[in-house]
Amino acid sequence: MVMKDDILDKSPTEIMDILKQLGEPSFRVKQLLGWVYKGKRSFDEMTNLPKTTRIRLKERYMIGNVKQIKKITSDKGDTIKYLCLLHDGNIIECVVMRYDYGNTLCLSTQVGCRMGCSFCESTRQGLIRNLKVGEMVAQVLMVNADLGETGERNIRNIVLMGSGEPLDNFDNVVKFLGLIHDPNTLNISYRNITLSTCGLVSKIRELANMDIPITLAISLHAPNDALRRRIMPVASAYSVREIVEAAKYYFNRTGRRVSFEYSLIDGINDGVEQAEELGRLLADFPCHVNIIPINSIEGAPYRRSSAARIQLFEKTLRSTGIQVTRRRELGHDIGGACGQLKRGYLNNSEG
Ligand code: SAH
Repeated sequence: MVMKDDILDKSPTEIMDILKQLGEPSFRVKQLLGWVYKGKRSFDEMTNLPKTTRIRLKERYMIGNVKQIKKITSDKGDTIKYLCLLHDGNIIECVVMRYDYGNTLCLSTQVGCRMGCSFCESTRQGLIRNLKVGEMVAQVLMVNADLGETGERNIRNIVLMGSGEPLDNFDNVVKFLGLIHDPNTLNISYRNITLSTCGLVSKIRELANMDIPITLAISLHAPNDALRRRIMPVASAYSVREIVEAAKYYFNRTGRRVSFEYSLIDGINDGVEQAEELGRLLADFPCHVNIIPINSIEGAPYRRSSAARIQLFEKTLRSTGIQVTRRRELGHDIGGACGQLKRGYLNNSEG
């Protein structure tokens, strides 16, 4: 069977072309997008489009190709993890975090990941494949539909921090960002989108040149190359210096403050010495450092730092003049915390 094209893969301009070919005037774009992004999954329901057009669209296109197969809510109810089935049998996860200021969706950009960070679950089996634009959009629409049922506010904040390295799926991610930002789709402000990367320097520069002023988060986790190489293979490709240079370039081009993620691993990167070195590395650069104790994953030898060590690290870093925030930890009890999302397919014990 030939699979139909997914409308969620298409930009408004592409949809304009599709409708033009069907002989429709341009105002139909808004109508069609209105239905699609309000969550309609069938062309039949788009009653303001002519019937013949609906039929022709239906012959060639589908709307979304991702199925919610499981939903797990944390004990406190502040985190919800969704398992989604893709058309080829792969399963991805996304997580909604409920903060006081609204709902944030943490979504996946790849099935698996090839970056190989030693503390991260998502990369264990390597990269399976990139997600298509429509598969990222579908995660947002699926969650919106689900939250809508309980009358809650829809997703207004998005973090690309689920499984995958967003900058390793660059073209699709950039198209996705433009698409959900469009006023005729979800109208999500760039300020409310954060892209987290393990530090692919050339792609950071490319992104900086694109006029998409989203927040950039860089997973640094170490203040020098030797230590970083011990825990992140990507550190052999790009030095910490190059990463900081690229971050400065991003800040200068976009005016958006960059944040650095720093997951504390007991006895490895959480000492006073590393805090001081990090302070020196980032001196005079207006940025944030987001610290978070490492989350445990099966089989990895890493332990969380003690509360006392975390406090000392935070205090030391702050005393160097760096702005430090401590990431609120959500989602532990449902395996939905940072680095715990996986390609939940064959080995998915919850399934
Ligand atoms: N590939 C991107 C985004 C996905 S990971 C990146 O590397 O940034 C999102 C964040 O979770 C990254 O900062 C990542 O380093 C961190 N992370 C991964 N595994 C973790 C773990 N076990 N505990 C805490 N943070 C983890």
